[in-house]
Parts: sequence; structure tokens; C-alpha cells
Amino acid sequence: MFEGPLQDLIDELSRLPGVGPKSAQRIAFHLLHVDPNDITRLQEALGGVRDGVQFCRICCNISRDEVCRICADSGRDAGMICVVEEPKDIQVIERTGEFSGRYHVLGGALDPLANVGPRELNISTLLQRIGGVLPDRELADSTPDNKLFDETPVIREVILATDPNTEGEATASYLSRLLKDFPDLIVSRLASGMPLGGDLEFVDELTLSRALSGRLTL
Ligand code: ZN
Repeated sequence: MFEGPLQDLIDELSRLPGVGPKSAQRIAFHLLHVDPNDITRLQEALGGVRDGVQFCRICCNISRDEVCRICADSGRDAGMICVVEEPKDIQVIERTGEFSGRYHVLGGALDPLANVGPRELNISTLLQRIGGVLPDRELADSTPDNKLFDETPVIREVILATDPNTEGEATASYLSRLLKDFPDLIVSRLASGMPLGGDLEFVDELTLSRALSGRLTL
């Protein structure tokens, strides 16, 4: 234990995901010696992350503007939506270079034990993107703005790329049941070969590429 502000910093750093007490100490000591300008930039970045980050009004990805870079890219296939749990999963799939459609970020997975139900996820906006009509009245009522989508592209396929663990599988099967209401829509799930119980983030690129190209229609 150290005294004063240094220990406060170590305590705060060690609360971050993936940062243990030892790493927290190493980062804190590093920061003691860095250029004051670097500290200012870090302070500004930390301060700006709450207010400066917004979510794309179409896909709910983290975005600098109202519509994210991927949704704004007319070169991408607007007829395919890859549904992921978190914005970081988009980075992972983008790295495979295997997918040229668009995304939808749920903001998590169904997890009854943690009180995460369908209404806690970005499901109503997904349904709205696909059909323009919401099958579930209650979900429809929780939709923030029904006039968000000026031009609705025809969605041909939805790929469910939730994590290969219990919550991710439960979310995928819930969504596939919901999406049966859209008869012309192809709903697929990443192919087998994905390590079970894991997080999409930790799946290597080759495995993910294969899982995408060999995806199974549900
Ligand atoms: Zn977007």
C-alpha cells in the first residue's frame, strides 16, 4: 500500500476490467514519470468519453456522428445485417474481411439472472430495420423514435453472431423465433467450430472467417 493520491490512482485503475493490482501499480508508476501534456490528453480523453460518445441511430454502434461509418458507407451491402452483442465484436468481424454487410449491436445478451430481458437490448430497432413493422406491441412502445428510418433497405439476411456461450445462444434462439415473423428473411447463425462457452472477441480470425462463410440457415 502506498500513501495518498498514488494509492487512489492504483485503486481506481485496478477496478478496470482486465487490470489486476500489479498492472494497476505498473500503470500508476508509469504515469508518475510521463510528460504533463500526455497526462492532460489522458484526462481529456477520460472526460470526453461520457459526453462525446454517441450511438449510431441505425445500428447502435458507437459513433462519432449520428450515423456510423459503416451504415454511411454506400459500398456495403445494406441487405445483410450481422447481429452482435457489443461494438467491439464489430471490430473482430471486420478484421476477418469476410463480411461486407452492415451490423446491429444489441448492447448485450439475454441474461435473466442479471435482469437483462429483451427490452434491455436493442431489439425493437432491429425489428424496425428489418420490417418497418413491429410484431411485439410492447417492444414497439419502447422504441424511441418511429420516424428514424427515412429509407428502409430490403433486408435479405440476418446473421446471428452473438457469443458462443449460454447467454449468446439463448439470445440467438430468441431472435430466430422472433424473426420467423418475416417469412422472406434468411436467418443464419455462425457455423460450428466456434469454441463453446467463449466470447467472440477471443475467437481467432481464421475460425471466425470459416464460421461466417459456413454459416447455417436457421
Ligand atoms: Zn451504424
